[in-house]
Amino acid sequence: MSFHQQFFTLNNGNKIPAIAIIGTGTRWYKNEETDATFSNSLVEQIVYALKLPGIIHIDAAEIYRTYPEVGKALSLTEKPRNAIFLTDKYSPQIKMSDSPAEGLDLALKKMGTDYVDLYLLHSPFVSKEANGLSLEEAWKDMEQLYKSGKAKNIGVSNFAVEDLQRILKVAEVKPQVNQIEFSPFLQNQTPGIYKFCQEHDILLEAYSPLGPLQKKTAQDDSQPFFEYVKELSEKYIKSEAQIILRWVTKRGVLPVTTSSKPQRISDAQNLFSFDLTAEEVDKITELGLEHEPLRLYWNKLYDKY
Ligand code: NDP
Repeated sequence: MSFHQQFFTLNNGNKIPAIAIIGTGTRWYKNEETDATFSNSLVEQIVYALKLPGIIHIDAAEIYRTYPEVGKALSLTEKPRNAIFLTDKYSPQIKMSDSPAEGLDLALKKMGTDYVDLYLLHSPFVSKEANGLSLEEAWKDMEQLYKSGKAKNIGVSNFAVEDLQRILKVAEVKPQVNQIEFSPFLQNQTPGIYKFCQEHDILLEAYSPLGPLQKKTAQDDSQPFFEYVKELSEKYIKSEAQIILRWVTKRGVLPVTTSSKPQRISDAQNLFSFDLTAEEVDKITELGLEHEPLRLYWNKLYDKY
């Protein structure tokens, strides 16, 4: 079977591999970064991912406390650095560092590399009172990292339309990415965000794209959405996860997934060996919208929606 890789083009002209196959948060998340919490299993999965063909997209963040594992895997791999696309995030919610610039310096040291391919402001919940810098100042700091080359691309995460509007007012460098929760059961993390990002050429990334499968129970099998995903899975001889991830990419969104199972990681990297028709994409969209919404992260902060 021949290997196909796809890329999205960011608003600065740079290319990004169209799926991140190994997120280092969620199931790998830790409250502490110590020798005792070091996860050999995560190192193994990243090393496995780095043996797959093509450019491998890894998703990291300060708050996951998994830099030691990423660093270890990077030290073990034979894949050249330019065949690895490394995303990282400054996480203002935990105040592990005082600014994006300080956060990235620490991250680079821990991961043993001298740049990241994409650096994100993990949330819009940044304030002078809590973090010592406003949202606008945090973005200015991100722009400096972009200009210095320590971050090849910059963006945001969990931003609503009004948060992006604040940034766009002061931006010299427009965010290239907004990473949000996105799945068939949550197609707008916050009102109008999908359309706004498409119109402003800000690439959306989908974390928890497999939310519907993560939460699926045996009773859900007979629901129209799951019946249809199963039908497509049989038609294309692909897993149900691959059908949903492919749907995400067909919506122009970059999925960020992860797994503790090598086969699932490999399936994600092999996502572009099949395609869905426009009708199939639309039907998944519609059946997803008919289902009760499912929000897995940041629930309290988005309660108002
Ligand atoms: P996914 O929705 O892709 O879910 C992956 C999880 O689903 C894995 O734990 C996997 O378990 C399980 N899974 C995979 N296939 C199936 C299946 N067929 N049936 C049931 N379960 C399945 O993504 P995540 O929610 O894990 O998030 C991915 C990454 O996104 C994170 O690691 C992180 O990097 C990023 N993220 C960013 C956030 C942000 O605020 N910016 C918030 C949350 C996540 P198994 O190991 O058993 O395969």
